[in-house]
Amino acid sequence: MEHFDPEDAIARVRREFGEHGGVCPSISRSSTFTVMAPETMPAIFKGIRGPDRGGCYLYSRHFNPTVDVLARYLAAMEGTEYAICTASGMAAIACSLLQLCSQGDHIVASRTIYGGSHALISELLPQWGIAVTLVDPTRPDDFDRAVRPETKVWYTEALGNPTLALADIPVLSRKAHDKGIQLVVDNTFTPMLISPAVLGADIVVHSMTKFINGASDMLAGAICARRDFIRQLMDLHTGRAMLLGPTMDPRGAFDIIQRIPHLAVRLREHGRRAMIMAEHLKSWGLEVTYPGLSSFPQHALMNTLLNPGYGFGGMLTIDCGTQKKAEALMDRLQNAERFGFMAVSLGYFDTLMSCSGSSTASEIDDQEQRAMGLSPGLLRMSVGITGNLTTRLEQLRQALQDTGMVAPSAQIAG
Ligand code: PLP
Repeated sequence: MEHFDPEDAIARVRREFGEHGGVCPSISRSSTFTVMAPETMPAIFKGIRGPDRGGCYLYSRHFNPTVDVLARYLAAMEGTEYAICTASGMAAIACSLLQLCSQGDHIVASRTIYGGSHALISELLPQWGIAVTLVDPTRPDDFDRAVRPETKVWYTEALGNPTLALADIPVLSRKAHDKGIQLVVDNTFTPMLISPAVLGADIVVHSMTKFINGASDMLAGAICARRDFIRQLMDLHTGRAMLLGPTMDPRGAFDIIQRIPHLAVRLREHGRRAMIMAEHLKSWGLEVTYPGLSSFPQHALMNTLLNPGYGFGGMLTIDCGTQKKAEALMDRLQNAERFGFMAVSLGYFDTLMSCSGSSTASEIDDQEQRAMGLSPGLLRMSVGITGNLTTRLEQLRQALQDTGMVAPSAQIAG
């Protein structure tokens, strides 16, 4: 079988010249657009015409030409018909779920997801009459068992935050579709590495704040899906993206457009370094979780889901046992070794580290953290791509030695 190649798919749709033949696309900052004939405007309002259907742009909360360029790249990357960009990842998730579910409906969601998504799904949506059942994302049968007549959506992250629990997307999508349910997958941890829509998911959401942008200097999100779903989101009467207004600014879209061409290069380097660090951590006897290690419980499944040539991603975790130990290690790594930053988020070109249980998963209560296998000492690391790798390994080894987590005899290979 020929593999889907997201890098190639993007290259095939990149065709914009800027004004005056610029090699960069131009930024179209207008909030509103001129129609050249009076009859065009009512046709756009009726949804008969639009920028993608022989019409023109109307107003930038609806569609904007620059934001559309980025959306086209994302749709190509995910192998979907269409996409829209949003002001944050949470906006993409919230708008998608609210478009699919109304009062009285039910969602089955992975319990191993980003704390904000967990709070949205298990606390806020139930206040609006949307019920939820949380399940283990590594057990597709649990999704099946949780289904009710009013279940509309199954929601999971491809590679779960922060425990790196992997969802078997082909199996989940088959099971969901048998029951007429839509599968929504957050692919924030694994852009290009995994293509959920190609594997069967209906809707792919992203926090572009992370790897896709790669510079930790803005918030952004995306929804990649079939054309009819994107049109529903932008419907003038009921479209959640149109009416709740989480619009991306064209200047921000331009910044990300200029970083998409080197996303694959960055991801390969994140993956190469993360693999080498994970192998060292493992050889030093630490409790490291990384999808590229053969000790990763779902390593075989990971290999079947990956697009070849992008590596295993930039995310790894070290279970330090206690929160105190994880904090001591991060303190040494940031303040003594200058190895990286104690900061939430991920996908930055420098290394970012956080103790998930007390930070990005702190919305999740202790009992639920235990249920998702999240230890209070779990240090999540987004491995950066800066600096000399041997120096970085030495910084890591030194910080671990200083905190008593490895013996002074621990070696750096080669
Ligand atoms: N999805 C995942 C997996 C995340 O880790 C995050 C944020 O950390 C989000 C979604 C939310 O994205 P944003 O902060 O861009 O709203």
